[in-house]
Amino acid sequence: MPDPAASPDVLVIGGGPAGSTAAALLAEQGRDVMLLEKDTHPRFHIGESLLPRNLGIFDRLGVRDAVDAIGVFKPGAEFVSDATGRRITFNFRDGLDQRFTHSYHVERAKFDALLFDTALAKGARAKQGVRVTDVAFVPGGRARVTARPADGDEFTLAPRYVLDASGRDTFLAGRMKLLQADKNNNTAALFAHFRNVECRTGDQAGCISVHLAEDGWFWFIPLPDEVMSVGFVGTQRAFKARQGSTHDFLFDRIDRSPTVRARMREAELCSEVRTAGNYSYRARASWGEGYMMIGDAFGFVDPVFSSGVLLAMSAAELGAEVASVWLDDPARARTLARRAERLMAGSMDRFGWLIYRINEPVMRHLFMSPSNFLRMRDGVVSVLAGNIEQKRGVNVPLVAFKTVYHVFSLAHRLGLRAHIASAG
Ligand SMILES: Cc1cc2nc3c(=O)[nH]c(=O)nc-3n(C[C@H](O)[C@H](O)[C@H](O)COP(=O)(O)OP(=O)(O)OC[C@H]3O[C@@H](n4cnc5c(N)ncnc54)[C@H](O)[C@@H]3O)c2cc1C
Repeated sequence: MPDPAASPDVLVIGGGPAGSTAAALLAEQGRDVMLLEKDTHPRFHIGESLLPRNLGIFDRLGVRDAVDAIGVFKPGAEFVSDATGRRITFNFRDGLDQRFTHSYHVERAKFDALLFDTALAKGARAKQGVRVTDVAFVPGGRARVTARPADGDEFTLAPRYVLDASGRDTFLAGRMKLLQADKNNNTAALFAHFRNVECRTGDQAGCISVHLAEDGWFWFIPLPDEVMSVGFVGTQRAFKARQGSTHDFLFDRIDRSPTVRARMREAELCSEVRTAGNYSYRARASWGEGYMMIGDAFGFVDPVFSSGVLLAMSAAELGAEVASVWLDDPARARTLARRAERLMAGSMDRFGWLIYRINEPVMRHLFMSPSNFLRMRDGVVSVLAGNIEQKRGVNVPLVAFKTVYHVFSLAHRLGLRAHIASAG
């Protein structure tokens, strides 16, 4: 039997960026919160490039200096076309939001450990090496959660609210059969760390590079100690053509891309080659009586614009508010949860509109030849910086960009294909 006295008011499943942020914010408000993480920090995780909008949440948590100390300064994002060899850089300082004009690349092992330690320091009961194995919700009462330490006996807790931040394990959405694969974005990824990769210099030093390749795209993320994270995100067609091991497949894709191959002539692999499949998804609902899903536990979009950690930490801010209000006023918390779901889904859609089209010739053409007519380029930079609120200042340039995209798409369908494809 669970002991309510030993049970927290809020239980958070998963100590990644979403879970640790939510636990830290709840503990700061004096809430009794327990954070359970199945692994032990520091541990590897993919998702190493952050966005300027993350800085506001770092300030709220009081970790900006600590992230600066472990991170690589990121001034913007560079796009490189395999079709033309052309390169274009979007500097965050050109975005419409002048408060946050840079970000960082981080080794997630150190970054996630920092956030977990922050939750602990703020008073959360944070435990590692403890996997949540089961959960049952009791109408009008406390939930019943079972957890198992790596080296001990299973135990049961009875929290009043559960935040699921279990990432791509999608603990609650999987059990509740709420998951929907995103058919618009059926991609998968292969990635590894390398040394001796050609780095960008001068103004572009520290930019993430996105190489637009055949049937997908590559990321180049500069990490501390001259390590470069390189990954390939491919369409179904790319992965269907796969032969041999994941190692051979990654090297084959590198070889096929002229711009990637050129930067990796001297490269030495310094990690294993990893994969991520079953790529994009979203749960049909993010909350119910006594629980809410945040971060990747709710949904995941392709990381071409490095949006995952920002979406996870922003969702954690919303989830912490809902959980805290639930303890005193469940009716108001339901209203807040509905709003939070709209915001989370809306932010994913905002990135999604650009992401779903990144492998199309028309979108590639527009990205590689950005016009600042009606501040379209600045609007795109703002989305790339993580400006996920529906603000008028960003909306007008983006609507202009979308309109131009639709006009070009129509022209493309009407027969200007060859011109646009060769330009992108
Ligand atoms: C190939 C690829 C590249 C990416 N690149 C980027 C990028 O450049 N920039 C970016 O911002 N994002 C990127 N992302 C996305 C980013 O990794 C995620 O969006 C982000 O980590 C989400 O944070 P989270 O806290 O929701 O989940 P996670 O970071 O996955 O954390 C979830 C935690 O929950 C724990 N857990 C799971 N189940 C249980 C359980 N039952 N009990 C206890 N603990 C549990 C896990 O061990 C994990 O520590 C990328 C993703 C992929 C797949």
